[in-house]
Amino acid sequence: MSCIFCRIVAGEIPAEIVARDEGAVAFLDIQPLADGHVVIVPRAHAARVEEMSAADAAALFRTVVRLVGPVRRALGADATTIGVNDGEASGQTIPHVHVHIVPRWQGDGAGTVHTIFPRRTKRTVAETAASIRKALGG
Ligand SMILES: [Zn+2]
Repeated sequence: MSCIFCRIVAGEIPAEIVARDEGAVAFLDIQPLADGHVVIVPRAHAARVEEMSAADAAALFRTVVRLVGPVRRALGADATTIGVNDGEASGQTIPHVHVHIVPRWQGDGAGTVHTIFPRRTKRTVAETAASIRKALGG
């Protein structure tokens, strides 16, 4: 088992675990973007979001919902940014699905999810919607 997150889930390598249940494990990011930066992983290995079972996805997000308030309160934060890098081209460095919860404070100088994109769209919104509906088989 070479996946670092699977090894954390199995207890083979140490991590600062803050919550765990039958479906997911949450621990502090070792390179935090802010104090209280938590990473939540499904226990079952899946490299990409679309590879997760519905049950694993539900368990993962249940843990996100359970943690977000306590993380914010523990750090005295005003808000959180919750994010997933899905695939290497997005910046996902560990190919095991993980959700980041990063505490935020008013005026902390960090941007929004929107600020990471240069907004270089090439299609109309209607064309894009039609393509996605077609890919869904609709
Ligand atoms: Zn894994």
